[in-house]
Amino acid sequence: MITTDVLVIGAGPSGTVSASIIRQAGFDVRIIEKMQFPRFVIGESLLPRCLEALDEAGFLPALNRKDFQVKSGAKFVRNGEICDFTFQEQHTDGWRNAWQMPRAEFDLVLANECERMGIPVSYQHEVTAIEISDDGSSITTIQPKDGEPYQIKAKFIVDGSGYGRVIPRLFGLERPSSMPPRKALFSHVTDPLRLQQEEPSRIVVYVHQENCWIWTIPFASGITSVGFVSAPEFFEKYSGSPEEQFRAMLQDVPELAVRFKDVALQFEPRTLQSWSVTTDTFYGNGFVLTGNVTEFLDPIFSSGVTLAAVSAQTAAKLVIKHLNGETVNWEKDYKEYLMQGVDVFRTYVNAWYDGTLFKIFFADVKNDTFKRQICSVLAGYVWDMSNPFVRNHERSVKSLAHYLEMAAEQQNNQQ
Ligand code: FAD
Repeated sequence: MITTDVLVIGAGPSGTVSASIIRQAGFDVRIIEKMQFPRFVIGESLLPRCLEALDEAGFLPALNRKDFQVKSGAKFVRNGEICDFTFQEQHTDGWRNAWQMPRAEFDLVLANECERMGIPVSYQHEVTAIEISDDGSSITTIQPKDGEPYQIKAKFIVDGSGYGRVIPRLFGLERPSSMPPRKALFSHVTDPLRLQQEEPSRIVVYVHQENCWIWTIPFASGITSVGFVSAPEFFEKYSGSPEEQFRAMLQDVPELAVRFKDVALQFEPRTLQSWSVTTDTFYGNGFVLTGNVTEFLDPIFSSGVTLAAVSAQTAAKLVIKHLNGETVNWEKDYKEYLMQGVDVFRTYVNAWYDGTLFKIFFADVKNDTFKRQICSVLAGYVWDMSNPFVRNHERSVKSLAHYLEMAAEQQNNQQ
């Protein structure tokens, strides 16, 4: 039987970041990955905070060589009103940019770097069963795509299996999320009119009707990722093939109709639905869950890969402590820490969908200090307690929206 110190499930960002950090501390690590890379996965716009985790994992030199599209901020558009955040102008002292890139290419770089560091990555091998002993050591059963099942004995397991959610499924830990179900329809398209846009290379989010919003994420290659997100009912009024539905939706968005008329789709538009799900626990005897396996809220603020990388970075350091025989307070140093960031994003996601955030983003009055503080949240610095929009996230968002609403009313009354 193969033995290793740490078995990592999944070669997405949460798997590779944790594998690399644990490997650098001198432990044997193996990654088991169900798919053949490069493989498609959604999640193409990063946040600056993510780069701290990628840096600690040692991935930045290889990523810099790829010349991905640099992301310097995020822009929100509603009926011609614009709210523009530039990561240069933010409260937290951190990274000022991130990247927008096809995840297939990005994830392959991370997985290749892991192999270069001496971490075997077994592609097209699927984890199908796990048995954990009282001492935390485990026997994992793996089914290769072509071949006989085999087993790996590990001292510890990191589950970074994303939407696969291996340990929550195998151990019955899944719990429905508090977020209402939402659906996305998306594709990659050619974008020849991009340069005629005021904002040709930065992610733009368009607010559309019926709580629908659309992302446009330009890549360095000239291809742009375009996706619609809304409640499942929104999509029911469109019929035909996914391509026909997608094209009809684009024609219904005034800001996008001309730009994306008759563009070539790189693949038949794909659907993802009801992605918000969480688990009873983020850790247990002999295992820790990272990335999407813990909780994924919503794509609106591009927080998924950042939370995946930061959870992996945090988990990896605790796994190292554990393997070195030190006592680890998983509840405080992992779950509570992670939930701090997730809960900040949850406040902003809820405030987006209930319209509170629109009162701030599209207000006539803009306050530079508040804008810089909110910009740091949107950059992923959701653990910076010096930021009142992190520390008192719910109250700060509600109070500012209320104040701006009152100010607008007063101004209207005076006119
Ligand atoms: P993944 O990237 O999903 O990787 C998990 C890996 O585990 C996969 O390669 C999978 O094949 C493997 N695996 C699964 N099961 C098994 C098994 N049994 N055995 C072995 N391997 C297994 N995030 C952003 O940051 N920016 C965005 O713009 C963004 N847009 C999004 C848009 C939509 C519509 C949605 C739904 C999500 C979006 N996300 C975005 C979120 C992003 O997709 C995820 O948060 C991110 O991919 C999580 O990374 P991960 O490493 O946890 O998991």
